[in-house]
Amino acid sequence: MDGQLGKSGEISPLSVPNYLFFFPESLHFLQKHPKAQFLPMEKAASIVFPGMERGTTVMLTDVMAEPVAHLQWERKLGSFRGSRRGPMVICIGGIHGNEPAGTIALKRVFEKLEDRPKDFRGELVGFAGNVAALSQGSRFIERDLNRMWAPDRMKTLHLENRQPLNCWEECEQKELLTVIEDALRRKTGPAIFLDLHTTSAPGVPFALVSDTLANRHLARRLEVPLILGLEENIEGTILNYINQLGYVAYGFEAGQHEAPESVDYHEAALWITLEAVGCLSRSHIPDFEHYQTLLRNAAPGLPQVMELRYRHAINPTDEFAMKPGFTNFTPVRQGQTVAIDRFGEVKAPEAGRIFMPLYQKQGEDGFFLVSEVKPVWLKVSALARRLHLDKLLPLLPGVSRHPDFENTLHVDTRIAKWYVVEICHLLGFRKQSTEFGVLTISRRKQHVKE
Ligand SMILES: [Zn+2]
Repeated sequence: MDGQLGKSGEISPLSVPNYLFFFPESLHFLQKHPKAQFLPMEKAASIVFPGMERGTTVMLTDVMAEPVAHLQWERKLGSFRGSRRGPMVICIGGIHGNEPAGTIALKRVFEKLEDRPKDFRGELVGFAGNVAALSQGSRFIERDLNRMWAPDRMKTLHLENRQPLNCWEECEQKELLTVIEDALRRKTGPAIFLDLHTTSAPGVPFALVSDTLANRHLARRLEVPLILGLEENIEGTILNYINQLGYVAYGFEAGQHEAPESVDYHEAALWITLEAVGCLSRSHIPDFEHYQTLLRNAAPGLPQVMELRYRHAINPTDEFAMKPGFTNFTPVRQGQTVAIDRFGEVKAPEAGRIFMPLYQKQGEDGFFLVSEVKPVWLKVSALARRLHLDKLLPLLPGVSRHPDFENTLHVDTRIAKWYVVEICHLLGFRKQSTEFGVLTISRRKQHVKE
């Protein structure tokens, strides 16, 4: 069906049930705009959010009521429930709208699951993250949906049920949150979250977790490089929010946005996860070995686990420009020039591997450095956490526990010895900020909610 705009921009009554007209710039703005009377905000909100019917067609319009995009409103990409109790696996694809590979992989998995209902334990659900941005192929419409999940904001989002929403992504977020919470209410076992992404530059797949043993354990099953410590240092991601709720979660970056392999890698990660958490046994997944081999061979020669060592924060006035030729995990020497800004050459403060070099205009991070965590240290850190050695941290020189938050420490860097921060890392304390010589270092909730 075509949109049925009259000459004056009016919507013919015929089109109302299936067509909704929005100005993508801002729903808030829509309320004030003279043409918005065609679709009052209250009406739009009640039809679209939450629970808009699957397959409903939405047309986004610009301020002149010219159509800019049509989309099938499909928040839910699929769900599959086994006859036996088991884990609830919740997957999100396309929380960035220019990253559709995860949504395609999820649909593939749901199609293949149709044939084998009996052997499945628990439930798999897949949701599209930013539906409107996906339909436009842009990262977001107004705001990055994967930077809006900070704890303070989430509190108000829950409280302000009837508040008008200020931008498109707030609507997306509210609906996404509703469907996630609905899924959690249905669960009959532990809940596990997967957040599927791709990158603008070509690269190998890797996984990201907040550094808890349960997250590490699951993500290592994928056998792609695992990055520790990044999640803790980017605020407002959906993974952070899920982690704070106490669920097991990992993020998976499959490679370049449009590369067909990215869909294959996502699909492999989904099947391997379903096996790892106990939804399906290996023998019930055709081609399981193929998926394993695919991921195992995807990043040859790279360390299995790397940790974030350095973040080069930038602001727009820095005129930061990365030197050409770096990709994820390119090795660099200490002192090597990796970028230029208005102060001159930007050098790597230590040896390691470049991670997420900035080659696009927008962004707050110029690049990161990561380096290998040797397997022996992974074992030491797992043992130290099982023995609850974190309780002894305040005995170290210069270290004190935050009076209110059990997962936060203060480290007086004038007193503490060089190894104190590394010991904190071993125990999962990776989020750092420094003020007046005192380092505040915190970690994600460590125990897992069933
Ligand atoms: Zn992304």
